Amino acid sequence: METKAYNPYKNMIAVLEEAAGKLGLKPEEYETLKYPERELTVSIPVKMDDGTLKVFEGYRVQHNSARGPYKGGIRYHQNANPDEVKALAAWMSFKCAVVNIPYGGAKGGIKVDPSKLSRDELIRLTRRYTTRILPLIGPDQDIPAPDVNTNGEVMGWIMDTYSMFKGHSVPGVVTGKPVEIGGSIGRSEATGRGVTIITEKCLTDLGMDPQKQTYAVQGMGNVGGTAAKILYDEGKKVIAVSDWSGGVMNREGLDIPKILEFLSDRNRCLKDYEVEDAVHITNEELLTCNCDVLIPAALENQITEENAGAIQAKVIVEAANGPTTVEADKILEKRGILVVPDILANAGGVVVSYFEWVQNIQSMAWDLEEVNNTLKKIMMKAYKDVREMSREKDTTMRMGAYMVAIDRITTAGKMRGGPISMA
Ligand code: GLU
Repeated sequence: METKAYNPYKNMIAVLEEAAGKLGLKPEEYETLKYPERELTVSIPVKMDDGTLKVFEGYRVQHNSARGPYKGGIRYHQNANPDEVKALAAWMSFKCAVVNIPYGGAKGGIKVDPSKLSRDELIRLTRRYTTRILPLIGPDQDIPAPDVNTNGEVMGWIMDTYSMFKGHSVPGVVTGKPVEIGGSIGRSEATGRGVTIITEKCLTDLGMDPQKQTYAVQGMGNVGGTAAKILYDEGKKVIAVSDWSGGVMNREGLDIPKILEFLSDRNRCLKDYEVEDAVHITNEELLTCNCDVLIPAALENQITEENAGAIQAKVIVEAANGPTTVEADKILEKRGILVVPDILANAGGVVVSYFEWVQNIQSMAWDLEEVNNTLKKIMMKAYKDVREMSREKDTTMRMGAYMVAIDRITTAGKMRGGPISMA
């Protein structure tokens, strides 16, 4: 069989159309959601440390603002491209609607492999990119945050560059900043924490004791690393983890803190992790390994029609954005494997981003207890809304989540005068 070229934007539209159809919406009621409201491609000239000039390509896509300002991360990745960023921006609109926070969706990216750049080059790249997207962003307009290969430090540089241009400090222009400059406590762990909250609730609902399951996590970045660490701290067996270079496995459970300590050096990766009680596996082996709960926490297009038939997990919790293709979804549904969709499972990050933004507006700082308790409350409510929708319409959790989201966004659009005159 010929493999279809994967396009995340087409994937997004296919799911959107199916969900809108199930909601009984007429095409004109959701047509606008197929397109971003605004897209910007920028060139980013950077003086490299050796004195040469390199020009990088960057993007900021604003998908929908019916429910509030645009919101979404910025990723640095060699494969970033307009269709990927467009899909990611749409997923942010749906995600914010599922957890019912007052935002629309956006995403940004730079086509760059940041591991090949020095810290100084990264600072220059980030500052120049910020000036290029400056007319689009702002605390009431569009609020960036970390995503793949960006972090609090990068947000600090964006916040500083934006503030320089405004002539005063504007902390609310980005979220996921370091706590010292207005970031929220608990933000950096929030996505991983949200994933574990949803996993626990879902397993309990299914009558599967969360303490007795085995877990496999693909991706040891901020999201996968945090999720694995929380599971480990709660006494659960994380039997396999991986990063871009490959993975490790131990059926008795891995020592996650030890792995994270090893990976804390930016130059190290899992293929070089040597311990006698773990065996090396490939990423493909991780995805199809014998586990109860699979948590893809890396990139899109990981669970495809090629490997969906071989997956052994009973539950998949999507910590990454878009890890499962439309074709794979159908196979998993037929096989009775429950998929907890990304726009619900990984929404914890943007939820605490919202708390950060609220704290910035009010010049207030919450404590960790308040952040984590409110996060849990919002995640549980979103889970309930999605579960009820999917039960009521007798469909998958992905469809349920999209239906909740599309209903909220199109209703907001109607209240603003309908899709034609929508701002
Ligand atoms: N990049 C994260 C996501 O995909 C967080 C976005 C945000 O906090 O705005 O959900």
